[in-house]
Amino acid sequence: MMEMPFVDIDIEDEFAICSTSEVNIKKKRKRTAGRENEEDTERKKKKKKQYRPNYFISIPITNPEITGGIQAVQDTILQKDHRLSKAMVHCGSLHVTLLVMHLSSKEEVSTAVGALSDSKDLVEDLLKGKTVDLSFRGIDHFRNEVGFVKLAESDHTAVLTEVAGTIKKIFQEKGILAGGDRAFKPHLTFMKLSKSPKLHKEVKKIDPSLYEKFKCHYFGDEILHRLDLCSMLKKKQPNGYYYCESSIILGKTHDAELVKEALHRETQALLSKLDQIKKLLSSPEVRKKLSRELFEERHNCTSKGESGVDSGSPNA
Ligand code: AMP
Repeated sequence: MMEMPFVDIDIEDEFAICSTSEVNIKKKRKRTAGRENEEDTERKKKKKKQYRPNYFISIPITNPEITGGIQAVQDTILQKDHRLSKAMVHCGSLHVTLLVMHLSSKEEVSTAVGALSDSKDLVEDLLKGKTVDLSFRGIDHFRNEVGFVKLAESDHTAVLTEVAGTIKKIFQEKGILAGGDRAFKPHLTFMKLSKSPKLHKEVKKIDPSLYEKFKCHYFGDEILHRLDLCSMLKKKQPNGYYYCESSIILGKTHDAELVKEALHRETQALLSKLDQIKKLLSSPEVRKKLSRELFEERHNCTSKGESGVDSGSPNA
């Protein structure tokens, strides 16, 4: 992928969250629509900006079968239109969004961390020991601007909707501005034009024929295991995944599992670095530069050896 995981900041998000008071303000304004002046419009703009989501609850996608399948879709699209590379979601940051929210201070972030921690018991009560198996099949889009892999409808997606509802309630009860005005539609985004406003100006719509081959493709299953509270704006982790304020692991957790999780994350980060090194080394210019430097290094060592300089000789 062209995207460098540690420099990328996603540009989110076209939709805003309305607080109850803002909904009331909107209703009142409708009644006095004729009197709306410039000042009003300005205030409205500011309000909308204030409530843009900047945090979200994420289900990370860790199954290599799914990430590999998505990589194949992205590669196929890029072979047909390379300009879209800036729209691609890095494989390390693939996730399903469960809930978006706006947190405006450190205190609110702490409240959200507490809300996520409180969610664990309630979600586990809801699951009653059963696993939630998310099955990914086929591709769809939002307004031809966002490309995503679909979740196959099943009892499991119904449970996921319940989980999302429960978590939203817990967050809202803590006074957090959470949940957009859209109905929950779980999806796995692999590309979105909004990642690059420059590209979005140039490419208005994603042509569905670019991913036609994968329209009904089965990508794999992901077991709901971990939920993360992630920042949309903070610098991402070296493995490409979002900055996490906190996480909960669902189901029984053994120390061995936690160690395995941590090891997996570290390995992914190392693999990602290795990938970048491999890409660098595949460039002829870099290879030429390296062999020149190596040659010079060797040459310097030989001449130093011959002249006795740096050899520790007392006569030098
Ligand atoms: P996400 O996968 O959560 O990163 O979302 C990718 C993009 O899809 C975001 O820019 C959202 O604005 C957009 N989006 C999410 N859910 C919906 C929806 N139900 N309808 C239309 N657009 C959506």
